[in-house]
Amino acid sequence: MTSRRNFLEKMGLTAMGLPLMTHSTDYLTSYHVLDGPTLKVAIMGLGSYGTRVAEAMKSCKRAKLTGVISGTPSKITDWQSKYGIPEKNCYNYENFDAVKDNPDIDAIYVITPNALHKDQVIRTAKAGKHAICEKPMGISSSECVEMIKACRDADVRLLVGYRMHFEPNTVEVIRMRMEGELGTIKFFQGQSGFRIGNPNQWRLNKELAGGGAMMDIGIYAVNGSRYMVGEEPIWVTAQETKTDPVKFPEGVDETIQFQFGFPSGAVASCLSTYSMNGLDRFFLNGTEGFAEMQPSTGYGPIKGRTHKGPLTEPIVTHQTLQMDEMAAMIFDGKEPIVSVNGEEGLKDLVIMEGIYEAAKTGKRVNLI
Ligand code: NAD
Repeated sequence: MTSRRNFLEKMGLTAMGLPLMTHSTDYLTSYHVLDGPTLKVAIMGLGSYGTRVAEAMKSCKRAKLTGVISGTPSKITDWQSKYGIPEKNCYNYENFDAVKDNPDIDAIYVITPNALHKDQVIRTAKAGKHAICEKPMGISSSECVEMIKACRDADVRLLVGYRMHFEPNTVEVIRMRMEGELGTIKFFQGQSGFRIGNPNQWRLNKELAGGGAMMDIGIYAVNGSRYMVGEEPIWVTAQETKTDPVKFPEGVDETIQFQFGFPSGAVASCLSTYSMNGLDRFFLNGTEGFAEMQPSTGYGPIKGRTHKGPLTEPIVTHQTLQMDEMAAMIFDGKEPIVSVNGEEGLKDLVIMEGIYEAAKTGKRVNLI
């Protein structure tokens, strides 16, 4: 994939060459930094995950829901009464650029179907507001590059809703791996999937979703491979299986198995699916120990054990912690143990494009 790397280099974004870890383990002792200014957030897209984030933000100490952006007036009035949002902080998809003159909003959290993220983040940046964007950040690596550039040009942050990067048991496993407690990492297994219902939903529409299970849930195994192993994959192989071509038409993947090779010689074996119930398991193996998590990326509580015993970190509401931590990132310059910057979203898209290519061609795809 020489051309892929060249493309990213030309954009000034050598995605695969960036170090994965941005900060030291100091992060671990301070994940509840609760003093400082409050991040005033407008949620765009008042659907099921937007609602979850809004509910979780009620318990935030440093982030507050102050605005909404929606195409459905009845949802806006409902949210206004539920969360005490004044009329002047309510927008629709046509007029939300006016947020630039609204001091009640510091950041827009984009929680809409995947294919809409790019334009909505770019408009957010042009309005001078920080952008928080749900995963997948875009539906292609070139979209992600544009989004990063727009936020950079506007001097605003672009953060991706990678809530697991703040989750205490996940962070503990990363700490153990970083401090050598697992020895040299040799193998990771990531299994991410669920059985998708309604065949008419946007998740099964290629134009809005950008793909199928991989874009939606397989991304957890992709992203997890990187933060659990602590390296960037250098090659990928993949195999696609389809049992229902009506529900999962061309371009909407149902099940993909994929394998990564890492520079150290470690390997990963993963599964992404829309056809298996509650598949949510990570297994990391090193020369001196292991970590096993199940559930590993669901809303929690995240459970697991290592060769030293059960994981016992505090159980938190992921989105509450995420939003408090994002406030600390924006106002205090704090960084999580694994980045949630736009570059992180780009890396996952580059790898997922490699997975799709490997599945289509049946060939091993080099990622550097
Ligand atoms: P959803 O269908 O429940 O909500 C999507 C919202 O976008 C709806 O309110 C809908 O009205 C609105 N919307 C705006 N324009 C639309 C259009 N053209 N077509 C369809 N809907 C439109 O979906 P969701 O589950 O809330 O997912 C939204 C985003 O959040 C996705 O990118 C998804 O990957 C992400 N997500 C992340 C997590 C996580 O744990 N981080 C969990 C679920 C979803």
